[in-house]
Amino acid sequence: MSATLLTALLLAAMPPGTDVDHAADDRAIYQKLEKATVALAQSGSPLNKDQRLKQCARVRAERRVELPPAQTERISPEESYQRAARAGVLICSVYKCGKCDRWHPSWSSGFAVHASGVIATNHHVAAHETAEAMGALTHDGRFLPVVEVLAARRSHDVALLRVDPGSGGPLATLPLRDDAPAGTRVLCYGNPSSGFGCLTDGILTRFARLDGAERQGAVFMQISADYGGGSSGGPILDDRGNALGMAASTSPILTPAKTSSDGKTQERTLQMVRHNCATARALLEIAGAR
Ligand SMILES: [Zn+2]
Repeated sequence: MSATLLTALLLAAMPPGTDVDHAADDRAIYQKLEKATVALAQSGSPLNKDQRLKQCARVRAERRVELPPAQTERISPEESYQRAARAGVLICSVYKCGKCDRWHPSWSSGFAVHASGVIATNHHVAAHETAEAMGALTHDGRFLPVVEVLAARRSHDVALLRVDPGSGGPLATLPLRDDAPAGTRVLCYGNPSSGFGCLTDGILTRFARLDGAERQGAVFMQISADYGGGSSGGPILDDRGNALGMAASTSPILTPAKTSSDGKTQERTLQMVRHNCATARALLEIAGAR
């Protein structure tokens, strides 16, 4: 193979978003995935709503999902982007609103943890109340129909989906690491607000138990890296290319409500945003690896 041809092939395989020559074309990417997922719904999805919601009650995979060990060799942030982008997927769930005849898309993120076609994402993604079909798109444009929920846990907001890899060969994966402490530098990869392949950075703020009927004291990882709607299921990476967890939810902290001397209520302003992430530990548990 000539050097020029090799270079051309390498450039062609660059994930959208990587550099000025490979900018993400959000409209084209999202349209492609939406079209494929709608076609899946119309042709009789391999996983319809009732089957999917039933499978979301599986708290542990029936057969253990073999996962690669955590990596110890440090890599650059640029290399982290490449690894996250190659293992990451954009997920589309299509549903009918009941008011019109059209299919509507709902967007989220995820990443492959097993090359045969196992994707990690959130329980709240897997347990979408009305979606009739779900599909995932890889950085190089492969469409992966979601065919099964292997396991899911609502309290910890984790799920493992089986996808049909088709004829495209094994998927690039990220290893999971569940022993990173607070203070670890982290990167967050995902698709916030219809923006494909965004990387942000921060630190692992702390681990905390979250209360409430839904969380029931489950441990979550809080980070300072930004993410937004659509990032759900996107991997949180350390500097070795391991996934420490994934984006799950945010909660804003506002200034206290105050009333000024003229009796008007002062507007509350945003002070900071908490970023609550599902943990790799919870993923390992539902995979049957712990
Ligand atoms: Zn509608």
